[in-house]
Amino acid sequence: MKNTVIKKYSVKELNAELFTPFTISSGSHKSMTNVLFTLEAAGGVRGYGEAAIATHITGETREKTMKSLRRAGELLAGLDAANYLAALCKLEGALDGNRAALAAAQMAVLDLVCRLQGVSLWKFFGGRAPSLKTDVTVVIGDAATALAFTAKMRKQGFKIFKVKTGADMDEDYRRLAAVKKAAPGCAIYLDANCACTAKGAEAFIKKLAGMGIHPAVLEQPVKKDDIDGLAYLSRKLPMPVCADESAYSLDDVYRLIQKNAVNAVNIKLTKLGFLRAREVWALARAKGIKLMMGQMVESELASCAAAAFAGGLGGFDFIDIDTPFFIKDSGLKGYSFLSKDGVYSLDRAKAGIGVEPRGAKC
Ligand SMILES: [Mg+2]
Repeated sequence: MKNTVIKKYSVKELNAELFTPFTISSGSHKSMTNVLFTLEAAGGVRGYGEAAIATHITGETREKTMKSLRRAGELLAGLDAANYLAALCKLEGALDGNRAALAAAQMAVLDLVCRLQGVSLWKFFGGRAPSLKTDVTVVIGDAATALAFTAKMRKQGFKIFKVKTGADMDEDYRRLAAVKKAAPGCAIYLDANCACTAKGAEAFIKKLAGMGIHPAVLEQPVKKDDIDGLAYLSRKLPMPVCADESAYSLDDVYRLIQKNAVNAVNIKLTKLGFLRAREVWALARAKGIKLMMGQMVESELASCAAAAFAGGLGGFDFIDIDTPFFIKDSGLKGYSFLSKDGVYSLDRAKAGIGVEPRGAKC
C-alpha cells in the first residue's frame, strides 16, 4: 500500500478550561468542548483537524459532530491523500449539514497532505503574508472587568480590541469608555452578534462618536436575515459594516454583495469549510469587499490553521484569531510560532499546520 493512502482515523473530545467565560450577546462558552479528528496514512504520518462546537451560534452539537466525523473517517479510509482535492470535495458533499465537522475533516486532510509533502499549510495556500497579528476580544461583562482585561492585554502587546456588544447598551458605553481609557490610541472593532436594530446601531455609533470612540469596523449589528438593515448601515456609517452570521455560504455572500449590503465579510472555516472559504475569499477580493479572518472558540490547532489560510492567501484586513489566549491548556504542542502579543509567525511553521496533540495516538 502506498504510504500516502489514508488508513486510520480517530474522533476524540478536545476539552479545555477557559481563563474567563467567552460571552457574547447570543450566549456563552464556559469551557472549550471541541472535537479532535485525526487521520493516519499507511506510512504512519498523521494529520489533525479540530471541530469547534458553538451550539448557541450554529445549532451544531458535539454529539452530532462526532457522529459526522466518524462518517468522514469511513469515507476517507482507503483514499490516497495525494488526491486531496477529490477528498475535500467528497467531504463537502457529505458534511454540508454539519460545517464544524466539515471544517475539521478538511483540516485533517490538508494537514496530512502538507505533512506528507513537507510543506506548511501557510505555504500550501500561497505563503503571501509571513506574519499576522490578531486583535483580542473584550467579551460581554462589566466595565471594571473590561478595564482590567484591556490593561493586561495592552501591556502584553495587543493593539486592537474587538469589543462584544449588544447585551446591555448602557453597560456597552461604560465598557467602551473603559477600553479607550486602558488602551489609548488603539483600534476598536465592534461585534454585536445580531443584537441590534439598524436604527439602534446607528444611534449607538453616533453616541460613541460623541465620546471620541470611532470603531474601525462594525460586525453583524443586526439579525442575520436583516439584509436591508445591513445595507442601511453600510450607507449611513463611516466605517465598514461586516457580515458574520449573515455570511454562512457562498450564496449568502453573493447576495450581500449584489445588494450592496456590506463592505466586509468575516470568513470562518467553521462556517464554510476550506474550499468554500477560499471561494468566498476570491469573490470578496474580486468585488473589493474587505475580509476578516475569524473563528469560534478554538484551540491553537484550528487557530493556527485559520492563520495559515489567511496568511497564505493574503488580502485580509482584520485578523480575529485570538481564542488561544482564552484557553488554559488544550494538550497541544508545536505552536511556538504564536507569540504572547498575538503574532502568528507563519513562515516558522514547518510541516502542515505545525500543531499536534501531546502524546498523539490514532
Ligand atoms: Mg462575529
